[in-house]
Amino acid sequence: MDKILRVNMSSQSVKLESIPAEYVGLGGRALTSKIVALEVPPLCHPLGPENKLVIAPGLLSGTTAPCSGRLSVGAKSPLTGGIKESNAGGTAAQKLARLSIAAIVIEGQAPPHALWNLLIAKNKAELLPAKNLRKKGNYKTIEILSKEYGEKVSYITIGPAGECLLSAASVAVTDLENRPTRHAGRGGLGAVMGSKGVKAIIVDDRGAPAPAIKNVEAFRQAAKTFADALRRHPITGTGLPTYGTNILTNVINESGGLPTRNFSAGQFEDASRVSGEFQREIILARGGVATHACHRGCVIRCSRIYMDKNKKYLTKGPEYETVWANGPNCGINDLDVIARLDRLYDDIGLDSIEMGAALGVLMQSGFLRFGDGKGAIKLMRDEVGKGTPLGRTLGSGAAVTGQVFGVAHVPVVKRQALPAYDPRAIKGIGVTYATSPMGADHTAGYSITANVLGAGGRVDPLRVEGQVELSRNLQIATAAIDSTGLCLFVAFPVLDDPAAFQAIYQMINAQYGLSLGPDNITSLGKAVLNLERDFNKRAGFAPEDDRLPMFFETEPLPPHNLVFNVAARDLDSVFNF
Ligand code: SF4
Repeated sequence: MDKILRVNMSSQSVKLESIPAEYVGLGGRALTSKIVALEVPPLCHPLGPENKLVIAPGLLSGTTAPCSGRLSVGAKSPLTGGIKESNAGGTAAQKLARLSIAAIVIEGQAPPHALWNLLIAKNKAELLPAKNLRKKGNYKTIEILSKEYGEKVSYITIGPAGECLLSAASVAVTDLENRPTRHAGRGGLGAVMGSKGVKAIIVDDRGAPAPAIKNVEAFRQAAKTFADALRRHPITGTGLPTYGTNILTNVINESGGLPTRNFSAGQFEDASRVSGEFQREIILARGGVATHACHRGCVIRCSRIYMDKNKKYLTKGPEYETVWANGPNCGINDLDVIARLDRLYDDIGLDSIEMGAALGVLMQSGFLRFGDGKGAIKLMRDEVGKGTPLGRTLGSGAAVTGQVFGVAHVPVVKRQALPAYDPRAIKGIGVTYATSPMGADHTAGYSITANVLGAGGRVDPLRVEGQVELSRNLQIATAAIDSTGLCLFVAFPVLDDPAAFQAIYQMINAQYGLSLGPDNITSLGKAVLNLERDFNKRAGFAPEDDRLPMFFETEPLPPHNLVFNVAARDLDSVFNF
Protein backbone atom coordinates (compact mmCIF):
# COMPACT_ATOMS: atom_id res chain seq x y z
CA MET A 1 0.00 0.00 0.00
CA ASP A 2 1.84 3.02 -1.22
CA LYS A 3 -0.85 5.59 -2.04
CA ILE A 4 -2.89 8.18 -0.17
CA LEU A 5 -6.16 9.23 -1.78
CA ARG A 6 -6.81 12.88 -0.92
CA VAL A 7 -10.37 14.04 -1.41
CA ASN A 8 -10.94 17.78 -1.08
CA MET A 9 -14.65 18.40 -0.62
CA SER A 10 -14.29 22.20 -0.83
CA SER A 11 -13.06 21.95 -4.42
CA GLN A 12 -14.54 18.51 -5.13
CA SER A 13 -11.17 17.31 -6.31
CA VAL A 14 -9.53 13.93 -5.88
CA LYS A 15 -5.82 13.24 -5.97
CA LEU A 16 -3.90 9.99 -5.65
CA GLU A 17 -0.48 10.72 -4.18
CA SER A 18 2.51 8.65 -3.14
CA ILE A 19 2.56 8.04 0.57
CA PRO A 20 4.67 10.76 2.29
CA ALA A 21 7.78 9.58 4.15
CA GLU A 22 6.30 10.32 7.60
CA TYR A 23 3.44 7.87 6.98
CA VAL A 24 5.42 5.01 5.41
CA GLY A 25 5.22 1.73 7.34
CA LEU A 26 2.02 2.66 9.18
CA GLY A 27 -1.45 1.19 8.84
CA GLY A 28 -4.85 1.18 10.53
CA ARG A 29 -5.00 3.16 13.78
CA ALA A 30 -1.29 4.10 13.67
CA LEU A 31 -1.90 5.80 10.33
CA THR A 32 -5.27 7.42 11.06
CA SER A 33 -3.99 8.81 14.37
CA LYS A 34 -0.75 10.06 12.82
CA ILE A 35 -2.54 11.86 9.99
CA VAL A 36 -5.06 13.40 12.40
CA ALA A 37 -2.29 14.40 14.84
CA LEU A 38 -0.17 16.03 12.13
CA GLU A 39 -2.83 17.53 9.88
CA VAL A 40 -5.87 18.45 12.02
CA PRO A 41 -5.72 21.57 14.23
CA PRO A 42 -6.58 20.20 17.70
CA LEU A 43 -8.81 23.18 18.52
CA CYS A 44 -10.86 23.02 15.30
CA HIS A 45 -14.57 22.29 15.33
CA PRO A 46 -15.02 18.58 14.58
CA LEU A 47 -17.73 19.35 12.03
CA GLY A 48 -15.83 22.16 10.30
CA PRO A 49 -13.65 22.12 7.17
CA GLU A 50 -10.39 21.86 9.14
CA ASN A 51 -11.21 18.40 10.48
CA LYS A 52 -10.25 15.42 8.31
CA LEU A 53 -11.85 12.00 8.03
CA VAL A 54 -9.19 9.34 7.54
CA ILE A 55 -10.03 5.79 6.50
CA ALA A 56 -7.24 3.22 6.52
CA PRO A 57 -6.90 -0.57 6.15
CA GLY A 58 -4.38 -2.28 8.42
CA LEU A 59 -0.83 -3.36 7.57
CA LEU A 60 -1.95 -6.96 6.91
CA SER A 61 -5.27 -6.18 5.22
CA GLY A 62 -5.80 -7.64 1.78
CA THR A 63 -3.53 -10.61 2.48
CA THR A 64 -4.46 -14.11 3.57
CA ALA A 65 -3.56 -13.30 7.20
CA PRO A 66 -6.52 -14.63 9.24
CA CYS A 67 -8.97 -12.01 10.56
CA SER A 68 -7.08 -9.11 8.96
CA GLY A 69 -9.97 -7.16 7.46
CA ARG A 70 -10.55 -4.42 10.04
CA LEU A 71 -10.94 -0.90 8.68
CA SER A 72 -9.83 2.05 10.84
CA VAL A 73 -11.71 5.35 10.67
CA GLY A 74 -10.22 8.40 12.40
CA ALA A 75 -10.85 12.12 12.93
CA LYS A 76 -11.33 14.63 15.72
CA SER A 77 -14.48 13.31 17.39
CA PRO A 78 -17.64 15.41 17.63
CA LEU A 79 -18.64 13.31 20.66
CA THR A 80 -15.47 13.53 22.76
CA GLY A 81 -13.71 16.55 21.24
CA GLY A 82 -10.53 14.44 21.19
CA ILE A 83 -8.77 12.20 18.71
CA LYS A 84 -10.73 9.14 17.63
CA GLU A 85 -10.11 5.85 15.93
CA SER A 86 -12.97 3.43 15.55
CA ASN A 87 -12.66 0.27 13.49
CA ALA A 88 -15.09 -1.99 11.70
CA GLY A 89 -15.13 -5.37 10.02
CA GLY A 90 -16.74 -5.90 6.64
CA THR A 91 -15.16 -6.18 3.24
CA ALA A 92 -13.83 -2.68 2.44
CA ALA A 93 -10.39 -2.88 4.12
CA GLN A 94 -9.28 -5.81 2.00
CA LYS A 95 -10.41 -4.13 -1.21
CA LEU A 96 -8.67 -0.84 -0.37
CA ALA A 97 -5.48 -2.75 0.36
CA ARG A 98 -5.71 -4.53 -2.99
CA LEU A 99 -6.05 -1.11 -4.63
CA SER A 100 -2.80 -0.20 -2.82
CA ILE A 101 -4.53 2.62 -0.91
CA ALA A 102 -3.01 3.08 2.54
CA ALA A 103 -5.53 5.79 3.47
CA ILE A 104 -8.38 7.92 2.16
CA VAL A 105 -8.12 11.45 3.58
CA ILE A 106 -11.33 13.47 3.20
CA GLU A 107 -10.74 17.15 3.90
CA GLY A 108 -12.43 20.52 3.40
CA GLN A 109 -16.21 20.71 3.19
CA ALA A 110 -18.81 20.58 0.42
CA PRO A 111 -21.27 23.49 0.21
CA PRO A 112 -24.30 23.07 2.53
CA HIS A 113 -26.78 20.40 1.40
CA ALA A 114 -24.52 19.05 -1.35
CA LEU A 115 -24.15 15.27 -1.17
CA TRP A 116 -21.56 13.20 -3.00
CA ASN A 117 -20.46 9.64 -3.56
CA LEU A 118 -16.80 8.73 -3.90
CA LEU A 119 -16.10 5.96 -6.41
CA ILE A 120 -12.73 4.22 -6.09
CA ALA A 121 -11.70 1.59 -8.63
CA LYS A 122 -8.52 0.37 -10.29
CA ASN A 123 -6.82 3.42 -11.84
CA LYS A 124 -9.81 5.61 -11.02
CA ALA A 125 -11.19 7.76 -8.22
CA GLU A 126 -13.94 10.34 -8.69
CA LEU A 127 -16.69 12.23 -6.91
CA LEU A 128 -20.21 11.83 -8.25
CA PRO A 129 -23.43 13.51 -7.10
CA ALA A 130 -25.29 11.25 -4.65
CA LYS A 131 -28.58 11.23 -6.50
CA ASN A 132 -31.69 9.95 -4.70
CA LEU A 133 -29.80 9.11 -1.54
CA ARG A 134 -30.58 12.05 0.75
CA LYS A 135 -31.78 10.88 4.18
CA LYS A 136 -31.96 7.30 2.96
CA GLY A 137 -31.23 4.58 5.49
CA ASN A 138 -28.11 2.47 5.00
CA TYR A 139 -30.10 -0.54 3.76
CA LYS A 140 -31.95 1.51 1.11
CA THR A 141 -28.73 3.26 0.15
CA ILE A 142 -27.01 -0.06 -0.52
CA GLU A 143 -30.04 -1.30 -2.48
CA ILE A 144 -29.94 1.78 -4.72
CA LEU A 145 -26.17 1.75 -5.17
CA SER A 146 -26.10 -1.99 -5.86
CA LYS A 147 -28.32 -1.46 -8.91
CA GLU A 148 -25.58 0.71 -10.38
CA TYR A 149 -22.38 -0.82 -9.04
CA GLY A 150 -23.39 -4.41 -8.29
CA GLU A 151 -22.74 -6.61 -5.32
CA LYS A 152 -19.07 -7.38 -5.86
CA VAL A 153 -17.94 -4.02 -4.49
CA SER A 154 -17.82 -2.71 -0.91
CA TYR A 155 -19.80 0.23 0.35
CA ILE A 156 -18.84 2.60 3.16
CA THR A 157 -21.89 4.72 3.96
CA ILE A 158 -23.69 6.95 6.43
CA GLY A 159 -27.39 6.91 7.27
CA PRO A 160 -29.70 9.81 8.21
CA ALA A 161 -27.87 10.22 11.56
CA GLY A 162 -24.63 11.05 9.77
CA GLU A 163 -26.40 13.49 7.47
CA CYS A 164 -28.00 15.13 10.55
CA LEU A 165 -24.47 15.42 12.06
CA LEU A 166 -25.47 13.57 15.24
CA SER A 167 -22.63 12.82 17.65
CA ALA A 168 -23.61 9.14 17.88
CA ALA A 169 -23.59 8.65 14.09
CA SER A 170 -21.59 5.71 12.75
CA VAL A 171 -19.81 4.85 9.51
CA ALA A 172 -21.25 1.62 8.04
CA VAL A 173 -19.30 -0.97 6.04
CA THR A 174 -20.94 -3.75 4.05
CA ASP A 175 -20.42 -7.38 4.98
CA LEU A 176 -20.05 -10.50 2.84
CA GLU A 177 -23.78 -10.47 2.05
CA ASN A 178 -23.56 -6.81 0.98
CA ARG A 179 -25.49 -5.62 4.03
CA PRO A 180 -24.49 -2.48 6.00
CA THR A 181 -24.00 -4.32 9.28
CA ARG A 182 -20.42 -3.56 10.30
CA HIS A 183 -19.94 -0.15 11.87
CA ALA A 184 -17.15 2.12 13.02
CA GLY A 185 -19.61 3.09 15.69
CA ARG A 186 -17.87 5.04 18.38
CA GLY A 187 -17.25 8.75 18.56
CA GLY A 188 -19.64 10.15 15.95
CA LEU A 189 -17.40 9.63 12.92
CA GLY A 190 -20.51 9.30 10.73
CA ALA A 191 -21.23 12.95 11.54
CA VAL A 192 -17.74 13.92 10.33
CA MET A 193 -18.40 12.07 7.06
CA GLY A 194 -21.78 13.84 6.83
CA SER A 195 -20.17 17.21 7.53
CA LYS A 196 -17.90 16.70 4.52
CA GLY A 197 -20.93 16.04 2.29
CA VAL A 198 -20.04 12.42 1.53
CA LYS A 199 -22.86 9.85 1.60
CA ALA A 200 -21.10 6.77 0.25
CA ILE A 201 -17.72 5.44 -0.76
CA ILE A 202 -17.84 2.67 -3.34
CA VAL A 203 -14.73 0.49 -3.36
CA ASP A 204 -14.35 -1.63 -6.49
CA ASP A 205 -11.18 -3.71 -6.53
CA ARG A 206 -11.95 -5.74 -9.64
CA GLY A 207 -8.79 -6.27 -11.65
CA ALA A 208 -6.52 -5.21 -8.78
CA PRO A 209 -3.83 -7.65 -7.64
CA ALA A 210 -3.39 -8.95 -4.09
CA PRO A 211 -0.79 -7.02 -2.05
CA ALA A 212 2.78 -8.06 -2.89
CA ILE A 213 4.42 -10.39 -0.36
CA LYS A 214 8.23 -10.24 -0.15
CA ASN A 215 8.67 -13.75 1.28
CA VAL A 216 5.71 -15.87 0.26
CA GLU A 217 6.75 -19.09 2.01
CA ALA A 218 7.53 -17.36 5.32
CA PHE A 219 4.20 -15.56 5.14
CA ARG A 220 2.33 -18.77 4.45
CA GLN A 221 3.98 -20.51 7.40
CA ALA A 222 3.29 -17.63 9.81
CA ALA A 223 -0.32 -17.30 8.64
CA LYS A 224 -0.85 -21.04 9.18
CA THR A 225 0.67 -20.89 12.68
CA PHE A 226 -1.59 -17.95 13.46
CA ALA A 227 -4.74 -19.66 12.15
CA ASP A 228 -3.90 -22.82 14.10
CA ALA A 229 -3.49 -20.79 17.30
CA LEU A 230 -6.85 -19.10 16.75
CA ARG A 231 -8.56 -22.45 16.21
CA ARG A 232 -6.83 -24.03 19.21
CA HIS A 233 -7.74 -21.41 21.81
CA PRO A 234 -10.97 -22.22 23.71
CA ILE A 235 -12.38 -18.68 23.32
CA THR A 236 -11.62 -18.10 19.64
CA GLY A 237 -11.84 -21.77 18.63
CA THR A 238 -15.02 -22.77 20.48
CA GLY A 239 -16.71 -20.09 22.60
CA LEU A 240 -17.02 -17.26 20.06
CA PRO A 241 -17.91 -19.45 17.05
CA THR A 242 -20.58 -21.31 19.04
CA TYR A 243 -22.29 -18.52 20.96
CA GLY A 244 -20.91 -15.33 19.45
CA THR A 245 -19.87 -12.33 21.50
CA ASN A 246 -23.10 -12.63 23.47
CA ILE A 247 -21.56 -15.58 25.27
CA LEU A 248 -20.55 -12.79 27.66
CA THR A 249 -24.01 -11.95 29.02
CA ASN A 250 -24.14 -14.91 31.41
CA VAL A 251 -20.42 -14.67 32.20
CA ILE A 252 -20.45 -10.96 33.08
CA ASN A 253 -23.76 -11.30 34.92
CA GLU A 254 -22.22 -14.05 37.01
CA SER A 255 -19.27 -11.80 37.82
CA GLY A 256 -21.63 -9.13 39.17
CA GLY A 257 -20.38 -6.60 36.61
CA LEU A 258 -23.30 -6.51 34.12
CA PRO A 259 -24.50 -2.88 34.26
CA THR A 260 -28.24 -2.98 34.78
CA ARG A 261 -30.83 -0.16 34.55
CA ASN A 262 -28.37 2.63 33.85
CA PHE A 263 -25.56 1.24 36.02
CA SER A 264 -27.62 0.87 39.18
CA ALA A 265 -26.94 -2.89 39.72
CA GLY A 266 -24.41 -5.46 38.53
CA GLN A 267 -26.79 -8.34 37.81
CA PHE A 268 -29.90 -8.56 35.64
CA GLU A 269 -32.65 -10.90 36.82
CA ASP A 270 -33.52 -11.83 33.21
CA ALA A 271 -29.97 -12.30 31.92
CA SER A 272 -30.75 -15.82 30.70
CA ARG A 273 -33.49 -14.44 28.42
CA VAL A 274 -30.99 -12.28 26.53
CA SER A 275 -28.00 -14.63 26.77
CA GLY A 276 -25.91 -16.00 23.93
CA GLU A 277 -27.09 -19.50 24.75
CA PHE A 278 -30.77 -18.51 24.31
CA GLN A 279 -29.91 -16.39 21.28
CA ARG A 280 -28.38 -19.47 19.62
CA GLU A 281 -31.56 -21.48 20.25
CA ILE A 282 -33.69 -18.74 18.64
CA ILE A 283 -31.36 -18.43 15.65
CA LEU A 284 -31.30 -22.18 14.99
CA ALA A 285 -35.07 -22.57 15.45
CA ARG A 286 -35.74 -19.81 12.91
CA GLY A 287 -33.25 -20.98 10.29
CA GLY A 288 -30.72 -18.21 10.92
CA VAL A 289 -26.94 -18.60 10.81
CA ALA A 290 -25.32 -19.35 14.16
CA THR A 291 -21.69 -18.91 13.07
CA HIS A 292 -20.83 -16.24 10.55
CA ALA A 293 -17.78 -14.27 9.39
CA CYS A 294 -17.93 -10.52 8.79
CA HIS A 295 -15.28 -10.75 6.08
CA ARG A 296 -13.46 -13.36 4.06
CA GLY A 297 -10.51 -14.92 5.89
CA CYS A 298 -11.93 -14.72 9.41
CA VAL A 299 -11.39 -18.10 11.06
CA ILE A 300 -13.10 -17.15 14.35
CA ARG A 301 -16.51 -16.22 12.85
CA CYS A 302 -18.06 -14.65 15.95
CA SER A 303 -21.02 -13.12 14.12
CA ARG A 304 -24.47 -14.57 13.31
CA ILE A 305 -27.59 -13.87 11.28
CA TYR A 306 -30.79 -13.27 13.24
CA MET A 307 -34.22 -13.93 11.72
CA ASP A 308 -37.53 -12.49 12.88
CA LYS A 309 -40.49 -14.58 14.06
CA ASN A 310 -41.49 -15.12 10.41
CA LYS A 311 -38.04 -16.55 9.66
CA LYS A 312 -37.10 -13.53 7.55
CA TYR A 313 -33.71 -11.79 7.84
CA LEU A 314 -33.78 -9.10 10.50
CA THR A 315 -30.19 -8.24 11.42
CA LYS A 316 -26.75 -9.60 12.21
CA GLY A 317 -25.83 -10.65 15.75
CA PRO A 318 -26.94 -8.75 17.74
CA GLU A 319 -23.53 -8.53 19.38
CA TYR A 320 -22.96 -8.58 23.13
CA GLU A 321 -22.44 -4.82 23.53
CA THR A 322 -25.69 -4.11 21.67
CA VAL A 323 -27.58 -6.75 23.64
CA TRP A 324 -26.31 -5.32 26.93
CA ALA A 325 -26.79 -1.60 26.11
CA ASN A 326 -30.34 -2.05 24.87
CA GLY A 327 -31.20 -5.02 27.10
CA PRO A 328 -30.10 -5.16 30.76
CA ASN A 329 -29.02 -1.51 30.72
CA CYS A 330 -32.59 -0.55 29.80
CA GLY A 331 -34.33 -3.33 31.76
CA ILE A 332 -35.39 -4.93 28.43
CA ASN A 333 -35.48 -8.74 28.40
CA ASP A 334 -36.64 -9.50 24.85
CA LEU A 335 -34.05 -10.43 22.20
CA ASP A 336 -36.51 -9.68 19.38
CA VAL A 337 -36.86 -6.09 20.64
CA ILE A 338 -33.08 -5.76 20.90
CA ALA A 339 -32.66 -7.20 17.38
CA ARG A 340 -35.16 -4.69 16.00
CA LEU A 341 -33.27 -1.86 17.69
CA ASP A 342 -30.02 -3.23 16.24
CA ARG A 343 -31.54 -3.20 12.76
CA LEU A 344 -32.68 0.42 13.27
CA TYR A 345 -29.21 1.46 14.46
CA ASP A 346 -27.58 -0.14 11.43
CA ASP A 347 -30.10 1.50 9.14
CA ILE A 348 -30.13 4.99 10.67
CA GLY A 349 -26.37 4.74 11.16
CA LEU A 350 -25.91 4.93 14.94
CA ASP A 351 -23.57 3.56 17.59
CA SER A 352 -25.62 0.91 19.40
CA ILE A 353 -23.63 1.38 22.64
CA GLU A 354 -24.10 5.14 22.76
CA MET A 355 -27.79 4.85 21.90
CA GLY A 356 -28.45 2.16 24.51
CA ALA A 357 -26.70 4.32 27.10
CA ALA A 358 -28.75 7.38 26.02
CA LEU A 359 -31.94 5.28 26.37
CA GLY A 360 -30.85 4.19 29.85
CA VAL A 361 -30.32 7.81 30.88
CA LEU A 362 -33.69 8.78 29.38
CA MET A 363 -35.35 5.97 31.34
CA GLN A 364 -33.65 7.16 34.50
CA SER A 365 -35.29 10.56 33.92
CA GLY A 366 -38.72 8.91 33.92
CA PHE A 367 -39.51 10.00 30.34
CA LEU A 368 -39.69 6.31 29.38
CA ARG A 369 -40.06 3.45 31.82
CA PHE A 370 -37.27 0.87 32.23
CA GLY A 371 -38.26 -2.22 30.24
CA ASP A 372 -40.37 -0.37 27.64
CA GLY A 373 -39.03 -1.99 24.49
CA LYS A 374 -41.87 -0.82 22.27
CA GLY A 375 -41.31 2.75 23.43
CA ALA A 376 -37.58 2.47 22.69
CA ILE A 377 -38.24 1.22 19.14
CA LYS A 378 -40.76 4.02 18.54
CA LEU A 379 -38.28 6.65 19.76
CA MET A 380 -35.55 5.36 17.46
CA ARG A 381 -37.77 4.95 14.40
CA ASP A 382 -39.93 8.05 14.69
CA GLU A 383 -37.69 10.53 16.49
CA VAL A 384 -34.01 9.77 15.91
CA GLY A 385 -34.61 8.32 12.43
CA LYS A 386 -36.56 11.40 11.41
CA GLY A 387 -34.26 13.93 13.04
CA THR A 388 -36.87 15.54 15.32
CA PRO A 389 -35.59 17.72 18.20
CA LEU A 390 -36.07 14.83 20.66
CA GLY A 391 -34.38 12.46 18.23
CA ARG A 392 -31.45 14.84 17.80
CA THR A 393 -31.08 14.98 21.58
CA LEU A 394 -30.90 11.21 21.91
CA GLY A 395 -28.72 10.88 18.83
CA SER A 396 -26.22 13.27 20.38
CA GLY A 397 -25.46 10.61 22.98
CA ALA A 398 -25.83 9.88 26.67
CA ALA A 399 -24.09 13.04 27.93
CA VAL A 400 -26.36 15.41 25.99
CA THR A 401 -29.44 13.35 26.88
CA GLY A 402 -28.47 13.63 30.55
CA GLN A 403 -28.04 17.39 30.25
CA VAL A 404 -31.34 17.95 28.46
CA PHE A 405 -33.33 15.72 30.83
CA GLY A 406 -31.57 16.81 34.02
CA VAL A 407 -30.08 13.41 34.92
CA ALA A 408 -26.97 13.37 37.12
CA HIS A 409 -26.35 9.62 36.80
CA VAL A 410 -24.69 9.68 33.38
CA PRO A 411 -22.13 6.94 32.62
CA VAL A 412 -19.66 8.68 30.30
CA VAL A 413 -15.94 9.48 30.18
CA LYS A 414 -14.87 12.30 27.88
CA ARG A 415 -18.58 12.41 26.97
CA GLN A 416 -18.50 8.88 25.48
CA ALA A 417 -20.78 6.23 27.04
CA LEU A 418 -19.33 3.37 29.06
CA PRO A 419 -19.71 -0.08 27.47
CA ALA A 420 -20.95 -3.33 29.02
CA TYR A 421 -18.79 -3.86 32.11
CA ASP A 422 -19.29 -2.03 35.40
CA PRO A 423 -15.96 -0.65 36.64
CA ARG A 424 -16.92 -1.14 40.30
CA ALA A 425 -17.00 -4.91 39.85
CA ILE A 426 -14.31 -5.16 37.16
CA LYS A 427 -11.76 -2.53 38.12
CA GLY A 428 -9.23 -3.01 35.34
CA ILE A 429 -11.75 -1.95 32.73
CA GLY A 430 -12.46 1.15 34.83
CA VAL A 431 -8.81 2.15 34.46
CA THR A 432 -9.13 1.77 30.68
CA TYR A 433 -12.43 3.70 30.53
CA ALA A 434 -10.94 6.55 32.55
CA THR A 435 -7.63 6.90 30.77
CA SER A 436 -8.03 5.85 27.14
CA PRO A 437 -7.52 8.79 24.77
CA MET A 438 -10.68 7.54 23.02
CA GLY A 439 -13.06 8.13 25.94
CA ALA A 440 -14.78 5.19 27.64
CA ASP A 441 -13.97 2.28 25.35
CA HIS A 442 -13.69 -1.39 26.32
CA THR A 443 -11.73 -2.26 23.18
CA ALA A 444 -8.94 0.19 24.06
CA GLY A 445 -7.59 -2.11 26.79
CA TYR A 446 -9.85 -5.09 27.33
CA SER A 447 -9.02 -6.09 30.91
CA ILE A 448 -11.94 -8.54 30.92
CA THR A 449 -9.30 -10.98 29.61
CA ALA A 450 -7.42 -11.33 32.93
CA ASN A 451 -10.12 -9.87 35.21
CA VAL A 452 -12.86 -12.34 34.24
CA LEU A 453 -11.92 -14.75 31.45
CA GLY A 454 -8.54 -15.94 32.72
CA ALA A 455 -6.79 -15.13 29.44
CA GLY A 456 -3.28 -13.69 29.79
CA GLY A 457 -3.14 -14.47 33.53
CA ARG A 458 -5.49 -13.54 36.34
CA VAL A 459 -5.99 -10.22 38.12
CA ASP A 460 -8.71 -10.15 40.80
CA PRO A 461 -11.40 -7.84 39.35
CA LEU A 462 -12.55 -6.65 42.78
CA ARG A 463 -9.17 -5.44 44.05
CA VAL A 464 -7.12 -2.42 43.06
CA GLU A 465 -3.79 -4.28 42.87
CA GLY A 466 -2.52 -4.93 39.35
CA GLN A 467 -5.22 -3.04 37.47
CA VAL A 468 -3.06 -0.13 36.29
CA GLU A 469 -0.37 -2.45 34.93
CA LEU A 470 -3.00 -4.63 33.28
CA SER A 471 -4.71 -1.71 31.56
CA ARG A 472 -1.38 -0.13 30.55
CA ASN A 473 -0.10 -3.31 28.89
CA LEU A 474 -3.38 -3.98 27.14
CA GLN A 475 -3.70 -0.40 25.88
CA ILE A 476 -0.20 -0.64 24.38
CA ALA A 477 -0.89 -4.03 22.79
CA THR A 478 -4.27 -2.89 21.47
CA ALA A 479 -2.89 0.22 19.81
CA ALA A 480 -0.45 -2.06 17.96
CA ILE A 481 -3.05 -4.68 16.99
CA ASP A 482 -5.42 -1.94 15.77
CA SER A 483 -2.67 -0.90 13.37
CA THR A 484 -2.36 -4.32 11.72
CA GLY A 485 -5.97 -4.71 10.55
CA LEU A 486 -6.33 -7.79 12.77
CA CYS A 487 -9.58 -8.22 14.65
CA LEU A 488 -9.08 -7.54 18.36
CA PHE A 489 -10.42 -11.00 19.21
CA VAL A 490 -7.07 -12.43 18.14
CA ALA A 491 -5.82 -11.02 21.46
CA PHE A 492 -7.05 -14.09 23.37
CA PRO A 493 -4.55 -16.55 21.83
CA VAL A 494 -1.94 -13.81 21.53
CA LEU A 495 -2.05 -13.34 25.31
CA ASP A 496 -1.83 -17.07 26.03
CA ASP A 497 0.25 -18.51 23.22
CA PRO A 498 3.71 -17.09 22.35
CA ALA A 499 3.49 -18.68 18.89
CA ALA A 500 0.45 -16.54 18.05
CA PHE A 501 2.21 -13.33 19.05
CA GLN A 502 5.32 -14.25 17.08
CA ALA A 503 3.22 -15.07 14.05
CA ILE A 504 1.91 -11.48 13.90
CA TYR A 505 5.30 -9.85 13.45
CA GLN A 506 6.48 -12.74 11.30
CA MET A 507 3.59 -12.09 8.89
CA ILE A 508 4.43 -8.36 8.81
CA ASN A 509 8.12 -9.15 8.28
CA ALA A 510 7.37 -11.60 5.48
CA GLN A 511 5.03 -9.17 3.73
CA TYR A 512 7.23 -6.09 3.88
CA GLY A 513 10.71 -7.63 4.05
CA LEU A 514 11.31 -6.33 7.58
CA SER A 515 12.94 -7.84 10.66
CA LEU A 516 10.68 -6.59 13.43
CA GLY A 517 10.66 -8.25 16.83
CA PRO A 518 8.39 -8.06 19.88
CA ASP A 519 9.98 -4.80 21.05
CA ASN A 520 9.04 -3.09 17.79
CA ILE A 521 5.40 -4.07 18.27
CA THR A 522 5.44 -2.66 21.81
CA SER A 523 7.17 0.52 20.60
CA LEU A 524 4.53 0.96 17.90
CA GLY A 525 1.72 0.72 20.48
CA LYS A 526 3.43 3.23 22.76
CA ALA A 527 4.09 5.65 19.90
CA VAL A 528 0.41 5.56 18.84
CA LEU A 529 -0.78 6.24 22.39
CA ASN A 530 1.71 9.08 22.85
CA LEU A 531 0.55 10.73 19.62
CA GLU A 532 -3.09 10.43 20.63
CA ARG A 533 -2.48 11.74 24.15
CA ASP A 534 -0.52 14.67 22.78
CA PHE A 535 -3.36 15.58 20.39
CA ASN A 536 -5.85 15.50 23.25
CA LYS A 537 -3.59 17.66 25.39
CA ARG A 538 -3.38 20.22 22.60
CA ALA A 539 -7.19 19.99 22.27
CA GLY A 540 -7.49 21.05 25.93
CA PHE A 541 -7.70 17.76 27.83
CA ALA A 542 -6.16 17.66 31.32
CA PRO A 543 -5.55 14.83 33.85
CA GLU A 544 -8.97 15.58 35.39
CA ASP A 545 -10.54 14.30 32.17
CA ASP A 546 -9.05 10.87 32.91
CA ARG A 547 -11.61 10.12 35.60
CA LEU A 548 -14.85 8.17 35.92
CA PRO A 549 -18.04 10.03 36.86
CA MET A 550 -18.16 10.62 40.63
CA PHE A 551 -21.08 8.23 41.25
CA PHE A 552 -18.81 5.26 40.56
CA GLU A 553 -16.78 6.33 43.61
CA THR A 554 -19.74 7.03 45.90
CA GLU A 555 -22.51 4.53 45.00
CA PRO A 556 -21.67 0.89 45.88
CA LEU A 557 -22.77 -1.59 43.20
CA PRO A 558 -24.79 -4.66 44.20
CA PRO A 559 -24.11 -7.58 44.54
CA HIS A 560 -20.50 -6.90 45.62
CA ASN A 561 -21.39 -3.51 47.09
CA LEU A 562 -18.08 -2.02 46.05
CA VAL A 563 -17.15 1.37 44.59
CA PHE A 564 -14.44 2.18 42.04
CA ASN A 565 -11.43 3.07 44.17
CA VAL A 566 -8.36 3.20 41.94
CA ALA A 567 -6.63 6.39 43.13
CA ALA A 568 -6.31 9.40 40.85
CA ARG A 569 -2.51 9.34 41.14
CA ASP A 570 -2.54 5.73 39.92
CA LEU A 571 -4.76 6.64 36.97
CA ASP A 572 -2.27 9.39 36.15
CA SER A 573 0.52 6.82 36.04
CA VAL A 574 -1.01 4.63 33.32
CA PHE A 575 1.02 6.24 30.55
CA ASN A 576 4.31 6.31 32.45
CA PHE A 577 6.21 4.13 30.02
S1 SF4 B 1 -14.00 -12.55 14.88
FE1 SF4 B 1 -16.00 -11.59 14.53
S2 SF4 B 1 -15.62 -9.35 14.48
FE2 SF4 B 1 -13.64 -10.41 14.29
S3 SF4 B 1 -13.29 -10.49 12.07
FE3 SF4 B 1 -14.31 -12.41 12.68
S4 SF4 B 1 -16.52 -12.11 12.43
FE4 SF4 B 1 -15.51 -10.10 12.36
